[in-house]
Amino acid sequence: MSIFDKLESEVRSYCRVWPAVFDRAVGSFVYDETGKSYLDFFSGAGALNYGHNNPVLKRALIDYLTSDGIAHALDMSTMAKRDFLETFHELVLAPRMLDYKVQFPGPTGANTVESALKLARKVTGRQQVISFTNAFHGMTLGALSVTGSAAKRASAGVPLPHTTPMPYDGFLNGTGPDFPFLEQLLSDSGSGLDRPSAVVVETVQGEGGVNVARAGWLCGLADLCQRYEILLIVDDVQMGCGRTGPFFSFEIAGITPDIVCLAKSIGAYGLPMALTLIRPDLDVWSPGEHNGTFRGNNLAFVAATAALREYWSDNAFERDVLAKGEHVRDALTTLSCTVPGTSVRGRGLVQGLVFADPSQPDEVVAEAFNRGLLVETSGSQNQVVKLMPPLTATMEELDQGLGILAESVRSVSVASA
Ligand code: PMP
Repeated sequence: MSIFDKLESEVRSYCRVWPAVFDRAVGSFVYDETGKSYLDFFSGAGALNYGHNNPVLKRALIDYLTSDGIAHALDMSTMAKRDFLETFHELVLAPRMLDYKVQFPGPTGANTVESALKLARKVTGRQQVISFTNAFHGMTLGALSVTGSAAKRASAGVPLPHTTPMPYDGFLNGTGPDFPFLEQLLSDSGSGLDRPSAVVVETVQGEGGVNVARAGWLCGLADLCQRYEILLIVDDVQMGCGRTGPFFSFEIAGITPDIVCLAKSIGAYGLPMALTLIRPDLDVWSPGEHNGTFRGNNLAFVAATAALREYWSDNAFERDVLAKGEHVRDALTTLSCTVPGTSVRGRGLVQGLVFADPSQPDEVVAEAFNRGLLVETSGSQNQVVKLMPPLTATMEELDQGLGILAESVRSVSVASA
């Protein structure tokens, strides 16, 4: 029995899907202890958009470590944090004409979501939050309260009140106007819906099945929020940092959320770091009101600054991601045409192959693993194979992974025919 089986909690999950002991990783590849290579189309669930051990980021980190730079500093001011804030302002906020205060809420996606929900309730004095079907926002209680999955919600062990789910774009098969029910609930004082403080939304639901909200739907939501004075929180934890093309996934809709949650790839090297971006007049926190020991991961500041300078100084990277996304999309569409009961959806470099038979994606993932490709499933029934290669993957690497995926899909569909 391995030490993992013997000692590690039953809660472990990814290691069950990919039963290897991993050792090294470079760029788009990871290697297990036997030396077998795997092309990584999972990218740390979106935490490794710039690939594994990216040499530019590694150099910056090594230099910082060898100069005995501060590693941990709660929220004390450090040179590394100053560099990060200045660079983030110069390369991300200012060019997009976004005016946000930056909160460091603790290093995880759930931390930023918790802080956003707390702040929205504090600012408005209202308790209710609107979430969406199939949403995923993290595993802490506040984040779970706006998450869709019944199994994950049940893990809370307590009621998850003060939230109301609404249909995400496409949940009702895309027929009819976008928000008739929500609009009616908000406008009719007999509806029974307490006036919400905030709406929290993902522009593409990564865990929920690669469900893509149309730009028009997002605009409609932003407009609704403005008319009813409800704060709009965009959870860009998985789709931010270029996953869909632009730095922020909401840019394509031309909307400006009141609060933005960022985590995962903002730390650039797989280093834990999260940001909550706050419209300045909403920044009503008292000092220390949302605290945490690990809000000053200076190694993450260093890697994040290096990544912003390397990839976000102009829009070449965004164009490259969009071109690669089109390429993946075309290949998946071609594959889907040959495999009955499948379809394709996604945006940029997050693309999903959707199966009518929800038993198949898990088998495809297992076949892909055997052939040297890491991909995961998503969706309420695991009905989608989700592709999230590093944004830095080359076209050849993309083709190699797509080739393995096609073989894996065909072997599963032949076996079940
Ligand atoms: N929000 C979204 C949209 C996510 O995809 C995730 C993680 N998959 C989270 C929040 C939670 O992030 P973390 O696991 O770092 O708490």
